[in-house]
Formats: sequence, C-alpha cells, structure tokens
Amino acid sequence: MSLCAAHTFAIFADQAALSHGCFHRHGGISPAPYDSLNISFGVGDEPENVHHNRALVKRALGCSTLVSTRQVHGDKVAVIEAMDVDAELDGYDALITAKPGVALLIQQADCQAILLHDPQNRVIANIHCGWRGSVANIIAATLSQMMDTFNCNPAHVQAAISPALGSCCAEFINYKKELPEAFYPFEVKDNHFDFPAISAMQLQKSGLKAQHIEVADICTRCNHDWFSFRRRHETGRFCSAIGLLP
Ligand SMILES: [Zn+2]
Repeated sequence: MSLCAAHTFAIFADQAALSHGCFHRHGGISPAPYDSLNISFGVGDEPENVHHNRALVKRALGCSTLVSTRQVHGDKVAVIEAMDVDAELDGYDALITAKPGVALLIQQADCQAILLHDPQNRVIANIHCGWRGSVANIIAATLSQMMDTFNCNPAHVQAAISPALGSCCAEFINYKKELPEAFYPFEVKDNHFDFPAISAMQLQKSGLKAQHIEVADICTRCNHDWFSFRRRHETGRFCSAIGLLP
C-alpha cells in the first residue's frame, strides 16, 4: 500500500518541480508506542522498521535520496551538496540544498518543521524549530545561509510551518527564565505561547513577505494523528519533508 502526505501546503501547490509533505503517524509498520510511521532511529524502535518507514516516505515524495539529521535543538545549518545515498547528519537543526532529487527531512513530536522554498534560485530548506530553536532564531541563521551560499532574496522565499504544538498546549510555566521578552506579546492565555506565530514573526523579520507564509494550524498534542512528546514521552517521531524533483 502506498503512502500519501497527511498535510500539504497551498503555497507550494503550483510548484510542479517541488515535492513536500507532512506525514502523520499512520501508514507505517512500527509497533506501539511507535505506531506506526515512526521515522526516528533514536527513540527505541527497531532500525529495520525505521528504514522501511523512511522508504515509504521517500517513495511518496518521489525523490531519490533522503537527508536527515540527528537534531539537537541548536542553530547549526548544513548545506547539502551532491548526495547519492540516504544520510543522517549529526548536530544540525536546519538543512539547505539546491540539488534536485534530494529530500530534506525533519523529525518531530511537537516541534515545528519550517519548509522554505526559493522558486527563483531553486533552493529549499527544512528547519527543526522547538522553543530553543525559536530562542536561538535558527530561522534567521538558515535564511542568512541561503543568502550567503545561494544569493537567495528572502522577499521571494515561501515558507510553510508544519503541524506542531499549538498555543492551546504550549504552556511554559518558567517562561520568564526561558523566553526572551520579544516573545511575550505571543502569550495567548496564562503561560501559553503561540510558537508558530513567533516563527511567522521571525520569518518576516528576516525579510519574508506575510503572504508567502502558510501555517498548518494543527496542534500535535490535541490531534492524535501526530506523535506528541507532551502527550506521551515514549513515542515515535513524525516527519515533514521537502525536495526538488529531478
Ligand atoms: Zn493543543
């Protein structure tokens, strides 16, 4: 049985040479508590299950190579050059490429994936952004790398923010210690913050146009179709991916 992305973005719909999607937890082969489309090698699931699940995602995307990273909630950005075998890097939280056929995959259980596409230069990026990534502004780090390496103009870049922990569930009791004051306007009720809106703000501060930003607006803790670390700590990881088609 073939797999389809559970969520796609209208902002990328007219880009024929682009493949992307957010894949929820269903359609894979992993047993509970990783049931069933777990794509992480780091949560205790059997590696053969993860390889199988990743192959399903790769086939659904139509890309020949899948590149991911063991994410560390930092702000390091990797530029992917020629890559003809699947690879998992270590220590990066954002991936950029201009190579057709290479899909960039971010692993998630409440954190955001932010998919970027520069249609003029044919460059893509995928960012893992939890609250620490928001504080470190990995979004700005990724866009400046896209400008430095590929001469991207942020005014042309399109961005899509994946399903993630919603403001309904993003409670930060210690926010005065953890979050900068610039985030305080995004407190929607007592100690609850709207992190996708913080990302949209950071994208615009980096030069993106508001009309080039789309937010999935799905809370991964409320909606049981997605893995959520806040709902259950022992769980799998879903993924969001983007690739330029060969
Ligand atoms: Zn929620």
